[in-house]
Amino acid sequence: MRFSKTFIKTLRTAPKDEIATNGALLTRAGYIHKEMAGVYDYLPLGLRVIENIKGVIREELNKLGCEEIQMSALQNPEPWEKTGRFSDQEVDIWFKTELASGGKLGLAPTHEEPITTMLKSYISSYKDLPLYVYQFQTKFRNELRAKSGILRGREFLMKDLYSFHTSEEDLDKFYAEVEQAYNRIFTRLGIGEDTFETFASGGIFSKYSHEFQTVLPVGEDTIYYNGDKSVVLNKEVLEDETLADLGVTREELTETTAAEVGNIFKLKFKYSEPLGLKYIDENNAQQNIYMGCYGIGVSRVMGVIVERFADDKGLVWPEEVAPYKYYLVGIGEEGRAVAEKFYQGREDEVLFDDRNVRPGEKFADADLMGLPYRIVISDKTLAEDAAEITNRATGENKLINLSELNNL
Ligand code: ATP
Ligand code: MG
Repeated sequence: MRFSKTFIKTLRTAPKDEIATNGALLTRAGYIHKEMAGVYDYLPLGLRVIENIKGVIREELNKLGCEEIQMSALQNPEPWEKTGRFSDQEVDIWFKTELASGGKLGLAPTHEEPITTMLKSYISSYKDLPLYVYQFQTKFRNELRAKSGILRGREFLMKDLYSFHTSEEDLDKFYAEVEQAYNRIFTRLGIGEDTFETFASGGIFSKYSHEFQTVLPVGEDTIYYNGDKSVVLNKEVLEDETLADLGVTREELTETTAAEVGNIFKLKFKYSEPLGLKYIDENNAQQNIYMGCYGIGVSRVMGVIVERFADDKGLVWPEEVAPYKYYLVGIGEEGRAVAEKFYQGREDEVLFDDRNVRPGEKFADADLMGLPYRIVISDKTLAEDAAEITNRATGENKLINLSELNNL
């Protein structure tokens, strides 16, 4: 990408109403634009980050045999009424609207009801199971507070996966595979070391569900962990019975704040039964279908990565997430010419700052935008037949020979 050709502009200061670090930095660096509290647009750089996060998740889920779909955001109330979840008393974050022709609609806050209903058209026999289906989809939630930038949106991107099984053992087996996949995903996204699988309340059918919580000063949740962080639990389940189950004492646990980046749930028959999703077994008998659901807050993960790695100069992206790998600056006539040549054919991994502005401004924007490596080619480096390459995260910089540069 050529900086001179994009419409984005960086800002020296953040808008006054943007109090969260992630929102402020992403706005200043030209990644997002705020429409209103909790509602953001993703600009070219921000969209590339989102697509990279989706790419990692997609790769890991496809390895498990999951199939990607995309369901509608507009919701027919009918299936939700069957589970009682269209009621504002049950689910207090609905955005609802009305059809011009009469009748109510909702904007999907999640998709258990519609997917369970939709699959009634496709699942009939034990031969159709197991089935694992996921999507990346915009969810709408009328959240009371939306002051955390993209960590909590009223419109946000979620990956939601749903699994369907003939037995509890099969559900358990798949659940364990998703746990592994989630660990791989968060590691690849750069937050593996700070993200812990956390015991959470399980609802009706299983004692515990699990959340994936990233330790973060601005996280809205509180979690508790033991010395080697092998046992982590959230506030909802911090009680004597849980402590006994997990073999820890309250004194061993340290409290910290964290942000929930994902969660996994064994639903068993919670939705399949009221919605009538059943299958015929080998003996021609009708049976209930076991379900699981598995979420990741894709846009929240982007915000968490920002909060985790940003420094006083701006954003810092892990390599798998960064919109581009290199921020390229050519200084002086020859420096620009060599940079131009290096850029050719690397449009997809290089952000070429070809603007007519002072080098100092380019360096400040390079720091603000947070691409993993900055490459500077100037008369000074060319005198040594080299370019300077700087690691944004560590600040480490070195000269690399031009022939080496061209092999990057
Ligand atoms: P929270 O407790 O943070 O409100 P939740 O329990 O309501 O989350 P789920 O309904 O299970 O979350 O959604 C799955 C994932 O979507 C969450 O783990 C979180 O990462 C993300 N998520 C939930 N609500 C929001 C939101 N308002 N904005 C951004 N991401 C969200
Ligand atoms: Mg919520």
